[in-house]
Amino acid sequence: MSQDPHAILSNVFGYNSFRGDQELIIKSVLNNDDALVLMPTGGGKSLCYQVPVLCKSGIGIIISPLIALMKDQVDALRLNGVEAKYLNSSQSSDEQQEVLSLAKAGKLKFLYVSPERLMANDGWLVDYLKQCEVNLIAVDEAHCISQWGHDFRPEYRKLRRLKLKFPEVPFIALTATADKKTADDIVRNLNLEEPKRFVSSFNRANIFYTVLPKKDSRQKLYDFLKDKKGQSGIVYTLSRKSAEELAQRLIDMGVMAWPYHAGMSSERRAQTQDRFINDQIDIVVATIAFGMGIDKSNVRFVVHMDLPKNIEGYYQETGRAGRDGLNSEALMFFSRGDAMILRQMIEGVDEKYESILLGKLNKMVAFGETRQCRRKTLLAYFGEEFPEDNCQSCDNCLRQVDFFDGTVIAQKALSAVMRLKQNFGINYVIDFLRGSKSQKIKEEHTWLKTYGVGKDLSKNEWSNYIRNLIDQNYLKLADGKYPVLKIGVKGLAVLYDDAKVQLEQIPKDALSKKIDLSIKHEDLFEMLKRFRLKLAGQERVAPYQIFSDKTLIELVNYLPLQSDDLLKISGFGHIKRNRYGDGFLKLIRNYVKQNNLESNMGDILMRKISKSTKDSNISSSTQIESFNLFKEGFKIDEIAERRSLSKMTIENHLIHFIAINKLDLSALVDASKIDSIQEALNKTKGLGLAAAKNILGSDYSYAEIKAVLSSKS
Ligand code: ADP
Ligand code: ZN
Repeated sequence: MSQDPHAILSNVFGYNSFRGDQELIIKSVLNNDDALVLMPTGGGKSLCYQVPVLCKSGIGIIISPLIALMKDQVDALRLNGVEAKYLNSSQSSDEQQEVLSLAKAGKLKFLYVSPERLMANDGWLVDYLKQCEVNLIAVDEAHCISQWGHDFRPEYRKLRRLKLKFPEVPFIALTATADKKTADDIVRNLNLEEPKRFVSSFNRANIFYTVLPKKDSRQKLYDFLKDKKGQSGIVYTLSRKSAEELAQRLIDMGVMAWPYHAGMSSERRAQTQDRFINDQIDIVVATIAFGMGIDKSNVRFVVHMDLPKNIEGYYQETGRAGRDGLNSEALMFFSRGDAMILRQMIEGVDEKYESILLGKLNKMVAFGETRQCRRKTLLAYFGEEFPEDNCQSCDNCLRQVDFFDGTVIAQKALSAVMRLKQNFGINYVIDFLRGSKSQKIKEEHTWLKTYGVGKDLSKNEWSNYIRNLIDQNYLKLADGKYPVLKIGVKGLAVLYDDAKVQLEQIPKDALSKKIDLSIKHEDLFEMLKRFRLKLAGQERVAPYQIFSDKTLIELVNYLPLQSDDLLKISGFGHIKRNRYGDGFLKLIRNYVKQNNLESNMGDILMRKISKSTKDSNISSSTQIESFNLFKEGFKIDEIAERRSLSKMTIENHLIHFIAINKLDLSALVDASKIDSIQEALNKTKGLGLAAAKNILGSDYSYAEIKAVLSSKS
């Protein structure tokens, strides 16, 4: 008797769709195949083994090396109403005994255990567990079993015998870092049986990469931190001394920053870590000693004050940002001087290693200096090709300027300046162009023909284009106290000779773009955060385990008012709704009342759909695979069959390509149907797909409606 993975996903975890390869992996495990999963940090590895265990009767054994992480996972499951316990050497034997009896009595769904505990005493525990109905064995951080990996742990080697003891049980090995050699080593050492391999893209789409010259790095850091109050971040430095010193500087400036490095007492280190995890300090200034075993999901930025030694380290450290999937930033300060210092530190070590280490350092330097997409460079280092030319979310990609034909815009701006007799500043000209009703606009100006011809552009757009027209000498700013706009040397040709003008696409501000979390009501967000902190104290867990920031942001943006609305919010499963829902609803209802607002729940479905299909222009490998089969002429049913995925999943994959204009709408929707779907969508705007479907009737499928919805806008 097994349950549907989608139902578990939404009822227990409160999520509405699987990410990346999750669904495929879960299907394969439910099929009793062994699996090897390579997925980056934050990719969602846990669900890959948690969902299948919950689909079936019996218990899942999860092998994990770090006590802190085990506790995290067990807490998270417990909060979602799932019976989970861990066993490790930090517990008394009474405690351990109790856990074991629960397992044997079939009262646990998950048992987390460290490899040394599992294999101790000649594998006594293994034999004990054979009396339980083990439905899955998961080996987390599986690279620890390989000497090729960077984190070899001898106790993992003992796990070799495990498969022989449980030949019928599916095994799943998971890791975020494994090259081909390590992967083969994992398979061999765990005795996996013809495992399916799932290699996800290592692209962290929600991390925005920036590299700045190191000159004045402190000042640049302060500027960077200015709009980040209350956000969590890690600032890495090379030396312990500079970690201490920088933390002190930040404290002096009123920033909640604490240092962390291997030279501190273990109590002080534990204290820093605790406070960080509980959102009591914002920033940890640390050497690379910090970060292992920290699962904090709402780290919004990671800064490297000094050049890291290699790309593996840089990727791992920056990867601690944005596990919750929200936009996050990675900022690195780069100088050739740093590279020299690191080079000197490497030189003189054992000759064989020296050349390897120098090679890695050179790659790191190249990353710092490249004008190419940082993401592409990073992924190429790990042997992955990034399919797009422009990632839209690194400093280099945003810096590239694109031009477009801006003749009409230029004509409007220039004739406005002319009509205003070259006597007004930029702001006035913009207000005039946009037809502002402000008192500042002189009465007689509102009669001019040019008044209001630039309504279609925002203030910001106008100010960018006018700056650009100035840069290109179509306009100029008069010197003197009041910088009024005048026609520049090239301007007249535009006004009288139809000269064409190329304008630059508006450059996005590299540092502030991605961190915009689009929180509609910041004050409510703060209230919900405080309430979350209180609940976390009561439950003795970290705040992000009660709800991630993402959940709070959805609450603030959609303003659910009914208990059932909560189930549509990401992260609200049934248990959390029942336990914490009322408290959150009360705060939201009050806020809505006091501010005369309305719920936006009507939007949630629509937004989620268009977001999930066109969130990024970047396609995942599983989407691409479906797309390729479709282009080869396979029907949707056939693709679903071949890939053992549901028809709905395949349709969603294809809709993604419709949304990003790589597939024509007619691939999924008959041309004759498009208009009526469009009409139904217009009529039911904001009410969700079901409302549109209701009008259209059974001749129209959800996929067709969704495809039309996604193809628009
Ligand atoms: P990993 O172990 O690969 O680093 P986790 O399993 O900790 O990643 O997942 C990272 C975060 O993403 C967690 O907060 C998790 O709850 C969330 N998450 C995972 N899968 C999904 C999903 N399908 N939808 C929404 N959130 C998800
Ligand atoms: Zn890029």
